Formats: sequence, C-alpha cells, structure tokens
Amino acid sequence: MNLENIAKNLAEIQEDIEKYSKKPEDVKLVVASKYVDSDGVKKIFDAGHKIMGENRIQSLKEKKENLSLEEKYNGVSWHFIGNLQKNKVKYIIDYIDMIHSVNKLSLAKEINKRAAAVSRVVDVLLEVNVGGEESKEGYTVQELLAELEELKKMENLNIKGLMTMAPFTENEEVVRECFRNLRKLKDRLNEDYFDGKLTELSMGMTNDYKIALEEGATIIRVGSKIFS
Ligand SMILES: *Cc1c(COP(=O)(O)O)cnc(C)c1O
Repeated sequence: MNLENIAKNLAEIQEDIEKYSKKPEDVKLVVASKYVDSDGVKKIFDAGHKIMGENRIQSLKEKKENLSLEEKYNGVSWHFIGNLQKNKVKYIIDYIDMIHSVNKLSLAKEINKRAAAVSRVVDVLLEVNVGGEESKEGYTVQELLAELEELKKMENLNIKGLMTMAPFTENEEVVRECFRNLRKLKDRLNEDYFDGKLTELSMGMTNDYKIALEEGATIIRVGSKIFS
C-alpha cells in the first residue's frame, strides 16, 4: 500500500461521485480506516483526504492519540461508523465530528448527556435497518417512529440524517431498493417531523457505493477499494 495507489483510488472514487450522483457537490467520502494503522491514516491524510470513519473505539483512541503527536494531523475529522456501546461514548465525545450509528434511545440519551457535559452539540445519524435483516444493527422503521419525538427533544444532538448498511447480496436490485427506501424514509421524516432539516444519507461501501450515489447518498463510507 503506497501513497500513489491511495491517491489514485481516491481520485477514482471522486470521479465516480461526479458520474453517479445527481448532486456531486453534496457528497462526502468517509474513508473507513479500520484496515490500516496510524501510519495508514497519515498516508490518507497526506494524499489530501481528511475525513476518516472508525468502527471500534479502541482503534479510534489509539489512532487519535498517535496522530495528535504531530500538529498537522489534528486536521483529521473523525466519524464513528461502527456499533457504539453506551459506556464508550465518553471516550470520543470531546472530538468526534459525527456519529453514524445512533440506533437506540438509551444510546442517544447517553450521547446527549455527555455532549451537554462538554458543551457540545454533536452531529448524529439515525441508523436504520431498512433491509429488515435479523443480524443487522439499526432501528426498524416502527421502532424509530416510536422514539422520534424523544430523540428530537435532545438539545445536544443534531440529527442530520439517516444511515444504513445494505444487505449482503449480489442482487443489485435488492441493494438499490434498500437505498431507495432509506431516501424515501428521509423524505417522509422531513415532511412529518423535521421540516426539511435532515440532509444526510450515509449509505454505500466499496461494493455498492455507485448504486448508493444514484439513489441519493450524501455520504459514502469506503474502505477496501482505497487500500487495494
Ligand atoms: C468497513 C466499513 C465500511 C467500508 O467497507 P468497505 O466494503 O471496505 O468499503 C463502511 N461502513 C462500515 C460501518 C464499515 O464497518
């Protein structure tokens, strides 16, 4: 894995964003950095990309600490994209720029409380299991609707949109349907509850980000493709 390859892969993804999204200027790439260590993250940053997504607290802590030894790497913007346990929120609340995986009221409450304690308003996404798979994390639509009023009251959470992971399948139509349903859900929530305030759709990874872009993704989370 060298800097040249990383830069080439990042450029390719940027071209795909222009090609497949109807509003490419609204799309952000989050680099899923779980495949690399701190030096890998430094390479991505040096290749000109600053938003990283981590999915384990322990690795995030290590990388954050390691990178903070050099001034320039404080420019990294960290997103949390994995399943988040309540008792770990305190470790990231000071600096995390976005949490993509709010999937329970108890977790939302903890983030809200910890954010208030450090006088922050934290950007979050609500994770929805639109595919309805048993094994997946995320709200079902029913559960989400039941908790929405309470979620909206939390003053230190800035709910910016929705996140999903598509089912693991070769069937592109199933994947497309899942992304489309997430977009429809966002539109419906904007109408009925949020007055147009939800702007983000975090969907699409290495194997399906082109479909996600066609279906309106504003954030894609890509890992393997960048490091291959
Ligand atoms: C690893 C990961 C990704 C990126 O997956 P790739 O298929 O490697 O691009 C995206 N989202 C989450 C939550 C991940 O854990």
